[in-house]
Amino acid sequence: MQIDTSPLEAILNEAHDIVLVGHFNPDGDALGSVTAAYHYLKARGKRSRIILPSPYPDNMSFLEPDDPQDRMLICENDLAEARRLVTGADAVICLDLNRLARTEYLEDDILSAQGKKVLVDHHIPAELDRFDVAISDTGVSSTCELLFRVLLAMPDIADDPARLGIRCAESLYVGMMTDTNNFANSVYPGTFDMAGRLIGIGVDKDGLQEKVLSCYSVSRTRLMGHMVKNKMVVLPRWKTAYMLLSNKEKARYHFQPGDSEGFVNLPLAIASVQVSALFTENADGAYVRVSLRSKGRIDVNRFANRFFNGGGHRNAAGGRLYMPLSDVPAYFEQALAAWPDEEKFS
Ligand code: 5GP
Ligand code: MN
Repeated sequence: MQIDTSPLEAILNEAHDIVLVGHFNPDGDALGSVTAAYHYLKARGKRSRIILPSPYPDNMSFLEPDDPQDRMLICENDLAEARRLVTGADAVICLDLNRLARTEYLEDDILSAQGKKVLVDHHIPAELDRFDVAISDTGVSSTCELLFRVLLAMPDIADDPARLGIRCAESLYVGMMTDTNNFANSVYPGTFDMAGRLIGIGVDKDGLQEKVLSCYSVSRTRLMGHMVKNKMVVLPRWKTAYMLLSNKEKARYHFQPGDSEGFVNLPLAIASVQVSALFTENADGAYVRVSLRSKGRIDVNRFANRFFNGGGHRNAAGGRLYMPLSDVPAYFEQALAAWPDEEKFS
């Protein structure tokens, strides 16, 4: 994949104040990509500030920039400051999101900001025309893999990953590792190439795996057992399984942000299950978070578009339902029945 970075290079050369924006409920790929971009820009002598709509899981805190002034700004802690930074920035770089609505609070601010707008993302493209420069590719594991390619193509890196520096390289590795579910899904030849090159310059693969993937509490593991044993509903007719996670259960198992990471993948280990869904009651009860996974050609991205106010990728998508958790099973079964075959397979 040849990436022409000259338009991005021109924007970065001119920009003094840069903001890096990730998506709501930031995951490893969102955090990895914004922090990798931060480290790259810092090494280039550019000051940038990371803005995230909502808090990130505790186990990712090692990705925080060391400089206290540069700590990631969370909109839910200080929305006014986030808006001020977006409005005043020379460049707004959005990473790991395909719609500005995924920033939850900042869509209008980004649209009306004077600075140049840049997108680097691996979701199915949706709003490329809203950006001055949009680098979008669905044929990669993660935004971090795409960003790795972009950075290697920059003149100052000149295809030498050692020039990225170890913090940048670690961030990129974390995003790729988490978005592939540790090399299980969405892995391309370029993904292994990236992993090999990053390990080659000293990224500690085992250390990162332990920090990021083996970081849970006893109660989280018990919650996972409870979900599989008591909550998983299998619908053989639709080759589908789903689980509901309520706020009551979250409290009983001392739920922390990130604790349900991976739950939705568990039913896919069953040979007869092709689609898996996890429905999680939001803390304030305002909506139900939807997480969808599928095998092979089954396209849950379009399923999420049509029935769950969301989107994502063919085999991994998410969205929201604005209804009580107790209404979800009936809605879900109706959606499965109404899912048109021509949208189901891609
Ligand atoms: P997860 O199930 O891990 O939260 O999300 C799976 C995929 O779906 C991710 O690529 C994520 O970006 C996307 N996704 C999750 N929630 C939403 C949503 O509310 N809207 C859209 N458009 N995509 C989502
Ligand atoms: Mn991603």
